Amino acid sequence: MSDAHHQLPPGLAPATLAVAAGRPAREPDAPVSPPVVFSSTYAAGGPMVYGRTGNPVWSAFEEVVGALEGGRALVFSSGMAAIAAALSLVPRDGLVVAPQHAYNTTLDLLDSRSAEGLRVRRVDLADLDAVVAALDGADLLWLESPTNPMLEVCDLAALAAAARAAGAISVCDNTFATPVLQRPLSLGVDVVVHSATKYLAGHSDVLLGVVVLADDEAGRARAAAVETHRRRYGAIAGPMETWLGLRGIRTLHLRMERATANAAELARRLATHPAVERVRYPGFGAMLAVEVRGGAAAADAVSGEVRLWLDATSLGGVESTLERRRRWALEPLTVPESLLRLSAGVEDVEDLWADLAAALSAAVPTQGEDGPSAS
Ligand SMILES: *Cc1c(COP(=O)(O)O)cnc(C)c1O
Repeated sequence: MSDAHHQLPPGLAPATLAVAAGRPAREPDAPVSPPVVFSSTYAAGGPMVYGRTGNPVWSAFEEVVGALEGGRALVFSSGMAAIAAALSLVPRDGLVVAPQHAYNTTLDLLDSRSAEGLRVRRVDLADLDAVVAALDGADLLWLESPTNPMLEVCDLAALAAAARAAGAISVCDNTFATPVLQRPLSLGVDVVVHSATKYLAGHSDVLLGVVVLADDEAGRARAAAVETHRRRYGAIAGPMETWLGLRGIRTLHLRMERATANAAELARRLATHPAVERVRYPGFGAMLAVEVRGGAAAADAVSGEVRLWLDATSLGGVESTLERRRRWALEPLTVPESLLRLSAGVEDVEDLWADLAAALSAAVPTQGEDGPSAS
């Protein structure tokens, strides 16, 4: 089966790449969308070989993500599979500098690897001097920006440069920002990972992950190592899941535009809601968090009151979801008990606001205030 894609003109914008990259070569009657290919093996002599080493749908998905991030992409069965593959670039007893706050299962994986000899130094990524000091002797700097669920942002260019100067690889989990809003490789980061389960696929119907490596000599060598890891450990994406991810990514730029506008408006209105103690919104992207007055019980009550928003883990779908993160035992104890993480979807913002504001007011009665204005 041919794996040749249509060659696009250079210099296209992300919105164009999301739509146009990874399309089949333009021959008479060639399909516009790559067909989903269910085959565990291929006739000998080509590059695919076997279902654990290649699939034409993988190639299409990888071409789009690679074009968007500006590197060489490798698809995995989940974000955690991609993260485990990126961490395979560190020797067993190597030294990793990692953020205080990050996706909880990433931190859990680092903890489990440290029980097996990996050395892990946790730092506040906002404190550049502390990160630079911690990088002494490090093999890898793990970055996440904005962080899940605290929405902290860091200076990726400065941190990537510091890692490079210290001889460490830098890896950025770009799940929250997406390549529409932030391209870490262009800021000097060596490796990008995504839970493509979230915004890239965007419809809460698949788990997928992707590792993207810089397209330079060192990056190509690391891409070969990550591909070997995928073949050896076998955490491969199914063809149907990858196809759904590809279908989702065609509208990534549109979804991000609407979800970001919704998040910004909700953040603005939440800031004056009497039931809200603090709003965390980095000023871009579709994720935000609120600390609710009244602690865990009040936050749980809000989750119980919403009728449009869905109380569920995960994020980045077209539908708006929220959850109190500290309900998970793995969550760092520095995440406030009352913190609700909100993933703004692409619905009408007035409907989202009405539901959220009503749930907040019902869960956290406030005196002498008649609630927020809807203007
Ligand atoms: C969800 C998530 C992951 C894990 O991805 P899965 O697809 O669930 O394995 C990693 N990083 C971040 C920031 C996430 O939100």
